[in-house]
Amino acid sequence: DQLVNQIAAGEVVERPASALKELLENSLDAGAENIGVELAAGGTKLIKVIDDGIGIEREDLALALHRHATSKIRDFDDLQKVATLGFRGEGLASIASVSRMTLTSRFNGAAHAWRIESDHGRLHDAEPAALAVGTTIEVHDLYYQTPARRKFLKSDSTEFAHCEDMVKRLALANPDKQFTLIHNNRASLRVMRGDVLKRCAALLGDEFAQSAVQVEERAGPLRLWGLAGSPTLSKGTRDAQYFFVNGRFVRDKVIAHALREAYRDVLHHDRHAAYCLFLELDPEGVDVNVHPTKIEVRFRESQAIYGFMLRSLTKALAATKA
Ligand code: ADP
Ligand code: MG
Repeated sequence: DQLVNQIAAGEVVERPASALKELLENSLDAGAENIGVELAAGGTKLIKVIDDGIGIEREDLALALHRHATSKIRDFDDLQKVATLGFRGEGLASIASVSRMTLTSRFNGAAHAWRIESDHGRLHDAEPAALAVGTTIEVHDLYYQTPARRKFLKSDSTEFAHCEDMVKRLALANPDKQFTLIHNNRASLRVMRGDVLKRCAALLGDEFAQSAVQVEERAGPLRLWGLAGSPTLSKGTRDAQYFFVNGRFVRDKVIAHALREAYRDVLHHDRHAAYCLFLELDPEGVDVNVHPTKIEVRFRESQAIYGFMLRSLTKALAATKA
């Protein structure tokens, strides 16, 4: 079982940022309003996520670290719709198998918290602990005992950049939640609850927010909204590209193509521009379960999506030129 977990870990936990993604998605699934992240050495030494979600009951603590013990898929319908962010029931088990993990949680209504420790998947007994309602997970020394994996990790600053981007993605998709990020004891990001536009300004910068075009288009079940940035922004700002399908960050060829075409047609710019855009469609129209890390999607009717994107973006960009 340990080996299975470690193999799964290779799929799910490519680097600290992927572990962080699993932890953050669990916090969001648990209904957290405030999520704090603390990292040390780009997440390789420590990834700590503190949330004020519903918590985990004592009898479920050990189960939470078992593969497939608590998959959020309850029926075929769930599989189709992928209602919650995590649904494979292997995130925590995978991370725990390649790190030292401490899971402390106080379930809503419980008298106190419980803590369980795992050393590369070997669980210790749960002990009482002190914590407000919610969950705190610490992941120490990711991949220290898996040198074959560890050697694929980049410098601490590169790993941190990936982690920071992951926090930004989830923070952009969840503007009604508060996020903080600390790296090596230094505050690196802090966003208060607000709307998407405020959050874009906070995370992508004022230069982006002030020059960006607001997009809001609908066609039947399709909706595209958010901000499309000017291609003339300074270099660092220009690279911020965030696209979400039904609230989930994705990278997709169809979408990238539509964006490129719209910018070329309207602004005669080949250079890519920063954007933060949200596409919403009937969940049945998109398959997000293409890859375990779920950054790719497959659209049932990609031509229709492409056409809608192109029309919407062209219209929004053209309006600013007039
Ligand atoms: P999945 O998210 O696919 O169910 P995970 O391995 O990521 O699987 O998590 C296992 C289970 O542990 C979750 O289903 C949930 O019940 C519980 N859990 C994990 N993290 C949290 C959290 N931050 N707050 C509350 N429950 C959590
Ligand atoms: Mg999960």
